[in-house]
Amino acid sequence: MKIICIGMNYMDHIREMNNPIPQVPVFFMKPDTSLVRNNNPFFYPEFTNDLQYELEVVLKINKLGRNVSEKFAHRYYNEIGLGIDFTARDLQRLCKDKGMPWEMAKAFDGSAPISSFVQKDRFENLNNINFKLEKNDVIVQKGNTNDMVFKFDHIISYVTKFITIRTGDLIFTGTPVGVGPVKVGDRLKAYLEDELMLDFFIR
Ligand code: MG
Repeated sequence: MKIICIGMNYMDHIREMNNPIPQVPVFFMKPDTSLVRNNNPFFYPEFTNDLQYELEVVLKINKLGRNVSEKFAHRYYNEIGLGIDFTARDLQRLCKDKGMPWEMAKAFDGSAPISSFVQKDRFENLNNINFKLEKNDVIVQKGNTNDMVFKFDHIISYVTKFITIRTGDLIFTGTPVGVGPVKVGDRLKAYLEDELMLDFFIR
């Protein structure tokens, strides 16, 4: 399986990063070795001094798709969950400054803790889902999917022009404002609406 991640998809986050508003979805990938499941701890890597969380809503793909039209994109995912797009911000800055790919900053082992998944039917409107992240019981990120620049179905349509999606693939759909650092000992908890989906420690 593969993990496709969308960057710069929430206006307030784009502003906090001082980036231009993208005209089309920006995407990159993480390997399956980046996954951390079942609230297992995340181990702070030695190659960074500025590891940051990015809470994101994650789509789980349920069938093979290529060149999917936006109209039919909703048929390609039944479940959603939450994930953290951990980013070594210092390394990412280095990569960006040199115009290099940023895999070492975003695709390293353990860089994608994910929650379990829930049926999307549970939500009346997929474009009005609240989600939030707490660090040591303080809210640090709050988002609503209505604030996405590119909505779920548009993302699937766009990405599948280039890359075939398969059952079990995951799509991270971008982070809202409030990204920030973690340190060893921190506890992260993430909620989809009021349901606790992720709860793990940085070790
Ligand atoms: Mg991200």
